Amino acid sequence: MPLLPIHLLGSPVLREASAPVAEVTEEVRRLVDDMFETMDAAEGVGLAANQIGQALRIAVVDADGERFAMINPMIVEASGKASEEEGCLSIPEVYAEVTRPERVVLEATGRDGVRYRLEADGLKARAIQHEIDHLNGVLMFDRMTPEQRKLAMAEYRKLQETPAAPA
Ligand code: ZN
Repeated sequence: MPLLPIHLLGSPVLREASAPVAEVTEEVRRLVDDMFETMDAAEGVGLAANQIGQALRIAVVDADGERFAMINPMIVEASGKASEEEGCLSIPEVYAEVTRPERVVLEATGRDGVRYRLEADGLKARAIQHEIDHLNGVLMFDRMTPEQRKLAMAEYRKLQETPAAPA
């Protein structure tokens, strides 16, 4: 199974609203497996399909000891509010505080094609919401205050401009 290259901030596919998956085919299952592998290699807690260039409503999560695929995911309930530092594999090395609902109830289709319901809080709830944002073309920068966004963007640009160490 191949590792897939992760698209970084600025890639247009990250701003696309992803299309629903009509059927969980062998091809979809293979994509899910490759996404798990890519997420693990990048040491992320989640990965959305458009981050590897496929604008489909598929994401994987590995948080708080639970590992699952979300195909056509939907948040059906959300409550509370929590602010925590968040990162994104498409915006490497930038961490910023993002406020989101603390608890969510997720409905999604699994890799086996079966629809399931999952209650989550903490990091798991945050990862679920972050990945569903990706499927809607939303990045964590969009969830920040203008002031936070300015700082985070400046940090990101600085990191991008840092020349590689001479060989
Ligand atoms: Zn992300």
